Amino acid sequence: MIRPSDYSLRPGLGYNTKRPIRAVNALTMIRPYSPSDAMLKRMSHRALNPMLKRALFILFCLCLMLAPALAQEEAVTSPAAPTRPPATLTLQGDGFQVEQYFGPLVQGQVGLLRLVGDDISEAHALLRSREYTFYPASDGWYALIVADIDAQARAYTLSVIVQHADGQAATVEGQVTIESAGYIRQSFTVPADRAFLTEPEVERYEFARLGVYTDPQTPQMLWGENRFTLPIDSEINSAFGLYRILNQNSITRHTGWDQRAPVGTPVTAMADGVVVFADQLDIRGNYVLIDHGWGVYTGYAHFSQFNVEAGMSVQQGTIIGLSGNTGRSNGPHLHWEVIVQGEWIDGLEFVNMWLPSS
Ligand SMILES: [Zn+2]
Repeated sequence: MIRPSDYSLRPGLGYNTKRPIRAVNALTMIRPYSPSDAMLKRMSHRALNPMLKRALFILFCLCLMLAPALAQEEAVTSPAAPTRPPATLTLQGDGFQVEQYFGPLVQGQVGLLRLVGDDISEAHALLRSREYTFYPASDGWYALIVADIDAQARAYTLSVIVQHADGQAATVEGQVTIESAGYIRQSFTVPADRAFLTEPEVERYEFARLGVYTDPQTPQMLWGENRFTLPIDSEINSAFGLYRILNQNSITRHTGWDQRAPVGTPVTAMADGVVVFADQLDIRGNYVLIDHGWGVYTGYAHFSQFNVEAGMSVQQGTIIGLSGNTGRSNGPHLHWEVIVQGEWIDGLEFVNMWLPSS
């Protein structure tokens, strides 16, 4: 678990802050070669002496030998989806098995479960009285379970209920331990002209409004083949999960991560998806929310300009707007957040975790 003091030491963060590299075909950038008549005459085979012919033949053979090697080099350097890591634990059921890809979950973390078996028609996981759907993918069924930010740190029973095509149901049980993330307190000053935004009622209303958009779970995986990336490439200046004391009178939680961003910084979609909200909110200001499928959403706050509207499909790297200072903000920055199964979770942990891809 990353602590606010060690973002720069986080392994893998450097990799994930890089923008996706778009392939450019260098050949399209070179003008077609058109030799003049005089050049053609000079290049005729009668003008070439036997030594030169031999040298050209050797050069031709070398090109033939090098071509496959160069092609191989190209294949190695092109971005590839990381392969599935080994499971940390396997639960054996009757005719199916459930693989667990996490150890103890820290508050705010997401755990990945993979289910394989014959004739499965649907399946659910139960943890802390919440039901999580398994979604089918090319190599099995997957569920994303959540250790929410306020979950009490202790061991919980995990149940997986599998429905077979013949109508038979089977259950297997395991255990999930949730650990404390040790979230700290931070004082946060909201400018006087926006102090009314520190009222708990304003926050309750905003969560209720957002819940309309973040509760539905699109059964298709929309994020494509790439893992999630950070929306801008800049320093992180406030961590997820902090208890924030607003103007010394009300307390709230920091639902995302903040990155430095002067007003007007282009902000990109963290993964492929569909924009479900691009409008003004009291606290988040001008806000964009993207549905990535399977109950995963990313949100981007305090924009100065929208480049997308609700209903638009976006790809990872699409510029969705420009950063700003709107809403309950105390200076220009980008606040971004990840919501999974209706819970605001630690987005940096999510960006770094392995996910199945389409
Ligand atoms: Zn923030």
